[in-house]
Amino acid sequence: MKITNVEFVISAVRPDQYPVDALPEFALAGRSNVGKSSLINRMINRKGLARTSAQPGKTQQLNYYRVNDQVYLVDFPGYGYAKVSKVQRQQFGQMIETFLNDREPLRMVLLIIDIRHEPSKDDILMYDWLKHYEIPVCVVTTKADKIPRSKWDKHVKMIKTSLGFHPADRHVLFSSETGLGRDELWALINTTIEE
Ligand code: GDP
Repeated sequence: MKITNVEFVISAVRPDQYPVDALPEFALAGRSNVGKSSLINRMINRKGLARTSAQPGKTQQLNYYRVNDQVYLVDFPGYGYAKVSKVQRQQFGQMIETFLNDREPLRMVLLIIDIRHEPSKDDILMYDWLKHYEIPVCVVTTKADKIPRSKWDKHVKMIKTSLGFHPADRHVLFSSETGLGRDELWALINTTIEE
């Protein structure tokens, strides 16, 4: 997709700060350091716009990026950060659940998983929440460049099995380093908007 215009709109910490223009939203979830910021930057072709999300204490912040005045990419806080307190963990859980439950413009969640590793407990919990709230999911296995191509299938299979991947959900193989999967992910976003 040709990116003509990207705007960082807001770091929202409360629902009353979420945009009200009703453009379709695609949220990105994943553990800290999984490569979420890199993926957003690759998707929008801007090297430094999305910053690393691994900041403790920012567990309630949703970063909204408006792309081509057509769609929002919504960056969830990275989860699984060891130094986050129990209270912050609870706040994160409440914020995400409220969002998944109430957010009318939300069309899909992109669940970002490192292709090299088994999904964490938090990844599985997130996937289960998404299924519970009947939100369409695309599992994005990223950092594909970090393992040989010959191992991609095996790793993807392992990840899907451990998530209990539902056949109705989507999967895209991605690398922010090489750009693998970028066009496929934009195509998926565009068809989902048109549905
Ligand atoms: P975030 O915390 O999820 O936002 O993660 P970042 O986007 O900051 O990425 C964490 C680290 O992984 C950084 O050092 C990135 O350069 C690296 N990284 C992210 N995506 C990729 C990828 O697709 N391939 C490779 N080789 N490195 C990546």
